[in-house]
Amino acid sequence: MHHNFLFDLDQTLLDFHASEYKALGIVLKANGLSFSDEIYQAFKAYNKSLWLELEKGAITRTELFTRRFLDVFSRCDGDSSQLDPLTVNDDFIRTMSVNGVLMDGALEFVKKVKDGIPDARIYIASNGATINAKGRIASTGLDRYIDGLFVSEDMGVAKPAAEFFDICLRQIGESKESCIMIGDSLSSDMLGAKNAALASVWFMPTGDIEAAVNEYNIDYCASSFDELYEILKRWSADSK
Ligand SMILES: [Mg+2]
Repeated sequence: MHHNFLFDLDQTLLDFHASEYKALGIVLKANGLSFSDEIYQAFKAYNKSLWLELEKGAITRTELFTRRFLDVFSRCDGDSSQLDPLTVNDDFIRTMSVNGVLMDGALEFVKKVKDGIPDARIYIASNGATINAKGRIASTGLDRYIDGLFVSEDMGVAKPAAEFFDICLRQIGESKESCIMIGDSLSSDMLGAKNAALASVWFMPTGDIEAAVNEYNIDYCASSFDELYEILKRWSADSK
């Protein structure tokens, strides 16, 4: 049996927002428009509100992609009158998928896990688009240390559903007890681990930690990659 570590991707190993920031800057400049921190912050906030609308069924994906770029265009200096928001959106998604940004120390951490913990296997368990996850993983060199990738778009089911983890376990082909879920999100990662009855590590906990630990049956908390490494090493030794 191996020690199977299921890692969330965004804000756990990769910095989604840093990739988004980088890609937006590249795409706007390539189209002759200005870019600034304020433009990114406005994009991020408006995008978030649009995704909530989409979840409620109030708008379509095409409307979301169109509206978020029409809004950006209205904030930029430069002539956007000839630009098609959907084309720019496609460029943005493609640019983001080849511009992964690691969380500080993430690559050294996964290397250390592979070298220092016998029988360690590293899997990614991520909600989102496959091209975005795969491309960013490859562009950061993280792919060399990963034994498998589980992305909700491929699977047709997302965290925190227990079915998501059932599929992971079936493909890994080992017991529940051999797996531990590591992630930053309470609502997808920690709730998912609870639903699937897996051990869990809450990475970079914030807010009322004690209340969350009780509510989601969280086994461990780690505020740095060093702490996370020690937890995984001990957990692996104990679960032999
Ligand atoms: Mg995350």
